[in-house]
Amino acid sequence: MIPEKMVAKHLISWFLAHKRSMPWRNQRTPYRVWISELMLQQTRVDQVIPYFLRFMKRFPSLKSLAEASQEEVLKQWEGLGYYSRARNLHKAAQIIVEQHKSIFPKDPEQIKALPGIGDYTAAAIGSLAFNLDLAVVDGNVIRVLSRLYAYTKDTRSTVARKELQQMADKLLTKGDAGNHNEAMMELGATVCLPKNPKCNICPLAEGCLACLSGRPADYPVKAPKKKVPHIVVGAAVVMNRKGEVLIAQRRDQDMLGGLWEFPGGKQETGETIQQCIARELKEELGIQIDVVDFLATIKHAYSHFTMEMHTYFARIRTGRPRPIECKDYCWAKVENLRAFAYSKADLKVIDALEKLYQNAE
Ligand code: SF4
Repeated sequence: MIPEKMVAKHLISWFLAHKRSMPWRNQRTPYRVWISELMLQQTRVDQVIPYFLRFMKRFPSLKSLAEASQEEVLKQWEGLGYYSRARNLHKAAQIIVEQHKSIFPKDPEQIKALPGIGDYTAAAIGSLAFNLDLAVVDGNVIRVLSRLYAYTKDTRSTVARKELQQMADKLLTKGDAGNHNEAMMELGATVCLPKNPKCNICPLAEGCLACLSGRPADYPVKAPKKKVPHIVVGAAVVMNRKGEVLIAQRRDQDMLGGLWEFPGGKQETGETIQQCIARELKEELGIQIDVVDFLATIKHAYSHFTMEMHTYFARIRTGRPRPIECKDYCWAKVENLRAFAYSKADLKVIDALEKLYQNAE
């Protein structure tokens, strides 16, 4: 049987019988669909659920999100990564309140005009919340499609992205796009797995060209990824006589903008890590410091680079902090550090600091 017929006949009924329970599936309002879709990008469902529930408790409506401070929104997003999504959704909520009378727009062009919403998210909101005939194409859907059609082009290429979208549009169950899209994503997440697809229990097996070829895991075809760069960073835990720690807020336009950090930056050629930390704090906050004891080395992988961050305690020798290359700064007691929002790497520095304090008690 051809893939289109298999999809039309079996996909949605399979989904309705096998779908996993997820909090955003109970009530598919545009607001809930939007937040869940943004959280789910690059993050697994089981990791997203507690974030989603906490976020909905704190911001139960679009209006409550629009009225919150960016700081509060970032705090709720802390640990999810890709913080520009949090800043954009905050801005978008304010635009919807001001320009759309607090009602989420239904027109896909108006949805796409909101900050941080691209084709995928607009199609997800349009289909799941408004049942518009829009097909979504994410990583799971690409895997299913490329296998159904035994598609041999590099799925990371622009031409393939266009063709895969056309295939998805063609397969879409018109009039039930919300369930269709969720079914495709669910099939990719639970049955059509990257390494070991479970073709024996797949509702589309009879029409799947990759399965019929006997080598389903050969698809999707992907050109090898380029090696990501590795950077070395130095950061300081500067303490004052009161036992408070100096933290700095990153500028909005920078990566991880709006988040707080232990000040520091990238090591330059020919510098020791101590020299790097001293230079960075002079540039960022206008202070001369003495770098003293080592605290921890934190390793973290971002989507486009990997990082190792060497963290040292430091004392101010001269000067008072000023926000020169940061948005703001603050002195905080160790026990109050978690009141601010940080990246995962800086949260690990707090873990190391707290552990040290607990052991000293
Ligand atoms: S038959 Fe196998 S390869 Fe084809 S869609 Fe189903 S799980 Fe994926």
